[in-house]
Amino acid sequence: MISVEEALAEILSHVQPLEPEPVPVLEAMGRVLAEEIVSDINIPPFDNSAMDGYAVRAVDVAMASPEMPVPLKVVGSVAAGYVTDASVAPGTAIRIMTGAPLPEGATAVVPYEDTSDFDRPKEDRLLRPADRIEVRQPVAPRDHVRPAGEDLRFGELVMAPGRVIRPQEIGVLASLGRPTVLVHRRPRVAILATGDELLEIHEPLRPGKIRNSNEYTNAALVTRTGGEPLRLGIARDTKGDLVTKIRSGLAQGADLFLTSGGVSVGDYDVVKDVLGAEGEMQFWRVNMKPGKPLAFGLLADSVPLIGLPGNPVSAMVSFEQFARPAILKMLGHTDLAKPTIEAVLDEPVTNSGRRGFVRVVVSHSPDGYHARTTGEQGSGVLTSMAKANGLAVVPEGTYRVEAGTTLTVQMLDWPEGTRA
Ligand code: AMP
Ligand code: MG
Repeated sequence: MISVEEALAEILSHVQPLEPEPVPVLEAMGRVLAEEIVSDINIPPFDNSAMDGYAVRAVDVAMASPEMPVPLKVVGSVAAGYVTDASVAPGTAIRIMTGAPLPEGATAVVPYEDTSDFDRPKEDRLLRPADRIEVRQPVAPRDHVRPAGEDLRFGELVMAPGRVIRPQEIGVLASLGRPTVLVHRRPRVAILATGDELLEIHEPLRPGKIRNSNEYTNAALVTRTGGEPLRLGIARDTKGDLVTKIRSGLAQGADLFLTSGGVSVGDYDVVKDVLGAEGEMQFWRVNMKPGKPLAFGLLADSVPLIGLPGNPVSAMVSFEQFARPAILKMLGHTDLAKPTIEAVLDEPVTNSGRRGFVRVVVSHSPDGYHARTTGEQGSGVLTSMAKANGLAVVPEGTYRVEAGTTLTVQMLDWPEGTRA
């Protein structure tokens, strides 16, 4: 048996970030930047006011106080989006709004609140702008002024390749005037369920048959991870059907194949035979539970195939350990690990001695995270995944974990009240 880490390392060694493609900036959300972003402007482009008030020479009002206000003559007004030809000479001020460029001669801004204007109702101020004001508080040079280049300077490296694009990066790109940006292409992930027992979602149940749920969980997992699912449907356990479906996936430009079923002992050899005939395949027994059987190989010399086990829980747990990191690497991510937290186990659990992934419900309380199992842990009990928000990781060689033990939990979701 090989370890989870050995299997993952082998898979990742055959997977590379996909080539860059230009996308409209809003479509870059959650994707990984594939170019260097250097600022070709200053942001803000000019010194501007951080407050509504009066642009003044700080030296004129350096001694102002409520008891000894300093009178100034108002010689103009400037709103955001406009420039003024007027300048601030000694003893004068210019009315200024937040975001408006600082006029010539001004060195600071006095907020309305610190002037005699503040005594007047806003409508009155607008209808009959003051031609004289009194300043009641001193300001120092640069006070309430946002200097040019405060946010970004011309020539500055803003983002390096590998940056994951969040709303704030999108805003920065917009302020730099970038309608499109280069990000790594999304992988097309071919999803193929195998098994003679499988029915399509709309078919009524018949004796001996079950519905194909893996295709749906896998497609949803691929989408959530950032890939594009390419659903190939159900392949029957025959050589011909499997070969046809795999070739159709290759013809449609799949970057990765995810199959489910047909990789454990006792399966129809045809699945193994076909995968073996279409590429270099290895069939592993990974030291984990659920999810011991796993296949990996390259189709047509270069397209990786991850053969997930058939049992729905095993398939999901194996997806999280092996397929998710592979898809993230193709997307250009470098942080491939599932987010984890440490939680105190509130009940004992038994373990097989392999690395255990126990479905748990993590809750948050004042003393930290706590975890309880979702109950039934059978690898076919998909509702146990639906109840869980985490997978508690039990180390290899452990057969029982006592209540009160702290375990690492891979989070599938975040507990109520701790979500972003
Ligand atoms: P296998 O490894 O092919 O023997 O699959 C193991 C078990 O997983 C099967 O007996 C089915 O009960 C279940 N299974 C396999 N494929 C699927 C699927 N696509 N959807 C739901 N259950 C499946
Ligand atoms: Mg099968």
